[in-house]
Amino acid sequence: GDLYGESRRNSKGLEFGCSAERNALVTGMAAFTAPFTEAGPLGAGLSASGDAHPVFAPMDGSTKVGTVRFADVETARKAVDVALKGFETWSRRPVNERAAALDRLGDLLEENRDRLMAILAMEGGKCLTDGIAEIREAVDFCRYYAGEARKLFGEGHLMPGPTGEENRHRHRGRGVFVCISPWNFPLAIFLGQVSAALVAGNAVVAKPAEQTPLIAFETAKLMHMAGIPEDAFLLVPGEGDIGAALTSHPAVAGVAFTGSTETAWAINRTLAAKNGPIVPLIAETGGINAMLVDATALPEQVCDDVMMSAFRSAGQRCSALRLLYVQEDVADPLLRMLEGAAKELKLDDPRLPSTDIGPVIDEEARDAIVAHIDDMRESQTLRYAGETPSRPLANGSWVAPHIIELDTSSALTREVFGPVLHVVRYKAKDIDKVLDQIAATGYGLTLGVHSRIDATVKKVVDRLSVGNVYVNRNTIGAVVGTQPFGGSGLSGTGPKAGGPAYLTRFALEQVVSINT
Ligand code: GLU
Repeated sequence: GDLYGESRRNSKGLEFGCSAERNALVTGMAAFTAPFTEAGPLGAGLSASGDAHPVFAPMDGSTKVGTVRFADVETARKAVDVALKGFETWSRRPVNERAAALDRLGDLLEENRDRLMAILAMEGGKCLTDGIAEIREAVDFCRYYAGEARKLFGEGHLMPGPTGEENRHRHRGRGVFVCISPWNFPLAIFLGQVSAALVAGNAVVAKPAEQTPLIAFETAKLMHMAGIPEDAFLLVPGEGDIGAALTSHPAVAGVAFTGSTETAWAINRTLAAKNGPIVPLIAETGGINAMLVDATALPEQVCDDVMMSAFRSAGQRCSALRLLYVQEDVADPLLRMLEGAAKELKLDDPRLPSTDIGPVIDEEARDAIVAHIDDMRESQTLRYAGETPSRPLANGSWVAPHIIELDTSSALTREVFGPVLHVVRYKAKDIDKVLDQIAATGYGLTLGVHSRIDATVKKVVDRLSVGNVYVNRNTIGAVVGTQPFGGSGLSGTGPKAGGPAYLTRFALEQVVSINT
């Protein structure tokens, strides 16, 4: 049938250029003020224990956004035990019921948009355009996976075979999935993982990033309201060893993880060390994402796309552009244009419509990015350094956009998760070397190409095993069901989120052969 879901529609989102829609959003959000919520473990049989930690807004470091009680190891283990029981009933529910719960959840997210966006701005530092895109993506995940599940699960498919025998191939849930999500898309990625796992018939224990427990808690409440049972979905906000307490539980049937490559390795080791059932790890990690710009590219278009890809969300996307290769013939004018455009970007309170860039997630992130910039300043050429906001936001976690020109691409050895763009010049005759360098990073998440020469585009696309290639456009904001997202190598295992193969990895395949 409809493998690529042609009959589906994405959620509408909001027309940010329309002042009436924009003002309604700003007014709607202003009705919700911090502190928003008291988060803690949520689900059947779980109770909050331990201290309530305050969560402060990264924007100013002082506005209290809410509190969180983190789960201890015992609570985390208990959550898996509860989910094991919950799995028995949830997995047997007809797929239409599970899918209907996701559809309801999508509606609830839209109805609660303003409140969720207020939390995203204050807890996650998300500016309005990012918040809108994030709600949209979360809603799209719910509806897309609901639609995919209806096709994939259920009675299954009869396979061709000999007369006198019936062979039925079907998919079902695997058991308890542990989902570990990052702070950079604390709603969309959190929900993308758990909604896929749940609709496939698994029970889920989810650990949101320790920096963003509040939005996860509010979303978890909506999930239960949408009809997902409290023993099939449990939330354990945690820090430290809570992730390991979950993944090391002997009964875990699979893990979905988005975050750093190092943590993905650690999870793999934990799963292997159990010497138990061999269970899947679905990991989506980072990238040293490159973009190639040759002399035939349209400079204004390149400039817009680079600003968006490198600096939107303060560069805190796995998909963000880190390393820009510019053909040397056009490098000087393009660099001047980029510096001019970067100067126009406004860093401010993420709730203001005029803000382009909000804070980075916390002080630790800020210090690490600033340390990288200081390092680079010594040996490479700093082309542009922006300014961070002054009072009353001066104490927030701010990093202004920076553009650094490198002598050689090998000066950049790791992913720097912030608004820092690195630029390298290349000679047209050296394009193969450039492609070799990009391949040699071992990452393979996103790649941009700006060229009007079809043969160049084809050469680049064919040479590199990168998950998402963007030609003559920006490299971020993959759309559910349109640009399934995810990479290879050090960037992750696949399958692609928001794509037709995603649910199958959360499922068990079974073939029933009956001698009729
Ligand atoms: N899907 C997002 C994008 O295309 C990035 C997800 C991530 O940062 O993990 O921009």
